[in-house]
Amino acid sequence: MSEDKATSTRLIHHPYRPPAGFMAPQPGVYKASTVIFSDVAALQARNWKDKTGYTYGLHGTPTTFLLEERIATLEGGTHTLLVPSGLAAITLVDMALLKSGDEVLIPDNAYGPGKELARQELSRWGITHRFYDPADAAALAALITPATKLLWLEAAGSITMEFPDLRALVRVARDKGVLSALDNTWGAGLAFNAFELGDGLGVDLSAHALTKFPSGGGDVLMGSVTTRDHDLHLRLKAAHMHMGWGVGVNDVEAVLRALPSLPLRYAAQDAAARALAQWWLQQPQVSQVLHPALPGSPGHEHWHALCTQAAGLFSVLFHARYDRRRVHAFVDALKLFKLGYSWAGPVSLAVPYDLAVIRPGSAWRGTLVRFSLGLEDVQDLQADLAAALQAVNWSG
Ligand SMILES: *Cc1c(COP(=O)(O)O)cnc(C)c1O
Repeated sequence: MSEDKATSTRLIHHPYRPPAGFMAPQPGVYKASTVIFSDVAALQARNWKDKTGYTYGLHGTPTTFLLEERIATLEGGTHTLLVPSGLAAITLVDMALLKSGDEVLIPDNAYGPGKELARQELSRWGITHRFYDPADAAALAALITPATKLLWLEAAGSITMEFPDLRALVRVARDKGVLSALDNTWGAGLAFNAFELGDGLGVDLSAHALTKFPSGGGDVLMGSVTTRDHDLHLRLKAAHMHMGWGVGVNDVEAVLRALPSLPLRYAAQDAAARALAQWWLQQPQVSQVLHPALPGSPGHEHWHALCTQAAGLFSVLFHARYDRRRVHAFVDALKLFKLGYSWAGPVSLAVPYDLAVIRPGSAWRGTLVRFSLGLEDVQDLQADLAAALQAVNWSG
């Protein structure tokens, strides 16, 4: 399908050749551990590095290769690898590209478990890390040393939703010869093309929690790493194979089935999140509504320069005069919004965070609630928020 078609069209009219005489567009589900070779010469010549042949179920089946190709199409890359979770996608990038003595730079608002991976595991292997302020590209340049080998990026950042100047950050990495990897879960390949940010700039790698938008069902855990660089892909592929990372084909099938509706779900959850973010602006209990499409939200101008769409996520910061028990009572009073992690499934979710705990090195303080929009009716969701606010005594 030519590149001039929209992503929604290209995800549906995507190359797939069904078995002869069976002209169904929905892909087959192929499962295997063993793949049989025709003779010893074929077995000895096995090539696991590209998709010209099959060697062992762990290294790919027609079904996993198809999902890899569709994720590459979605994100604007050329090579994709599947891993068992979004966190494993971050791990794959770190393990494939870093070695003892190297340093990785991670934005202070990055996905929390990715920061813990650096703190708890990479450090044990002699890989150091530093957290940087993604709002300050000039300061980033000064952090880079000869040991710096990888720059992580996230747009928008987790929980506080700041949108960085991606172009400026990627330019710093380019100028210094440092590889850049974006956690692309928020944008999902729809809000912006990570490999074409403008001015000839793009990230080298994109990690994506397919658990979120591509699955959309709240019932699959999977991740992917995508690149346009063949050599980088081979480095990732080697590490992927050596570590024995595979994904279950039933899960791959679920994601393939959900991909055609991804642009619709993304747009619906975006619209619902913006409607409720606007509603929160009117509520006296909150001091700030954090959503990159809202003027005044941190990095709004950078979001505006790169995107028209946004993920169905936002956070509200409660006034400092309210102690966290009151905010927790509000969350406990919600009925439709459920209390739990992850996002982009059918069920709307809310999670409270203490900013002093999750962002100790930043100026962020107070109690915040992060909302992720499901697919319920937005008026019902707004009524749920209003009823839960009413249920708490904000004055005593
Ligand atoms: C959820 C998430 C991940 C991790 O995905 P899992 O599949 O839950 O491991 C990584 N990055 C971001 C930004 C996420 O929101």
